[in-house]
Amino acid sequence: MNNIDIINKKEKNEYLSYEELDQVFNGYLNGDVNDTDMTRLLKSICLYGLSEEEIYNLTDIFIKSGDTLDLSELGMVVDKHSTGGVGDSVTLVVATRVAACGVKIAKMSGRALGHTGGTIDKLESIKGFNVSLTEREFIDQVKRINIAITSQTGEVAPMDKKVYALRNVTNTTMSMPLIASSIMSKKVACGANKIIIDVKIGDGALITNLKDARELSRLMINIGKKYNKEVKCILTNMAIPLGKSVGNGLEVKEAIEVLDNKSEGRLRTLSIEMAAILVSMALEINLNDARQLVKEKLISGEGLNKFKELIINQHGDFNSIAIDSTFIPVKAEKSGYLSKIDALALGKLCNKLGAGRIEKYDEIDYGSGVVLNKDINEYVNKGDIICYLYTKKEVFVDDILPCFDITDTKSEEIPLIYEIIE
Ligand code: URA
Repeated sequence: MNNIDIINKKEKNEYLSYEELDQVFNGYLNGDVNDTDMTRLLKSICLYGLSEEEIYNLTDIFIKSGDTLDLSELGMVVDKHSTGGVGDSVTLVVATRVAACGVKIAKMSGRALGHTGGTIDKLESIKGFNVSLTEREFIDQVKRINIAITSQTGEVAPMDKKVYALRNVTNTTMSMPLIASSIMSKKVACGANKIIIDVKIGDGALITNLKDARELSRLMINIGKKYNKEVKCILTNMAIPLGKSVGNGLEVKEAIEVLDNKSEGRLRTLSIEMAAILVSMALEINLNDARQLVKEKLISGEGLNKFKELIINQHGDFNSIAIDSTFIPVKAEKSGYLSKIDALALGKLCNKLGAGRIEKYDEIDYGSGVVLNKDINEYVNKGDIICYLYTKKEVFVDDILPCFDITDTKSEEIPLIYEIIE
């Protein structure tokens, strides 16, 4: 069967065998299948889904498209992943804090996907930071300082890398089978033993409801089991941005404030919890003791010191983080409760400000983004500054309007953490 026949089959919602998936996805990787035809296949997968067996097969095909890192010389290694959020610099805070607790974390991260941010773009806002470590450099650094963060190298799940970049610009990000295969192929190939995955739920996330989040978690935990990896999923809210900053350099700055114990709020709370889960998994201690240890590292500043160590080891300049020098204050047009801060709308706004990519090869303005000056359900008076826009681009009121609502009553409170699935 040729590649087009296979794609046509999925367009009719028919089952694809391991061999058929292997042929068509490898065809895309080596250039025999073009972007247009792969987009047709991805759109059919978004529309009809894949059976559980197809998902396991696709994950395996993604893994086998590249190298699998052998981290055995490091002993116990943990990893962390997020399905993608807005204002979500959790990786920077959690990874450094976990490393400060004596746990090894070897993290391969991605770039922005759709309206959600990516750790690698964030780290590139730090002048000189090397996001392209070789496998040897990556392993040696974890051995030396317990932590390394690098971009998904061309050798690890290259098929996912190529498909991910296409999904990002073809509106095919929101598919559970594609998300599960994409995340788990990288997690398995990257070689860590224990993994936590932050499954974001809400309009600002790729998954918008609890039911799908549970299903995705179950899939990823089961994929993990097939490769002897312990996976836990934490289901968290992404209707509103996690931190008060959205945009690469701005988020790095906020992560530093959180590590420096100078910031309260959702980002701080979630990063303590996620670090505690990873530490308890790695050190095999109970969650309360792990939480205590993580908080000690927060108060002692060891998490921040680890971040500085990470930056130095990857040749970055801690004192040179891109933040645009011009910013525009956005003022409340009436008084009332700030009952909506829409993560999706803010993510899209940030892409327009220059913080993300709209086309595949767009250049990012690392210093652009939004800093919120008010929190959800806070009372604002007419004329109060709701947020600041950092950008070199022209901004239109129509882009800002969907981000906020000011009403006479507060909106219903949504939990930050819904549940943990093991
Ligand atoms: N993160 C990934 O690595 N892949 C996805 O598909 C979504 C989030």
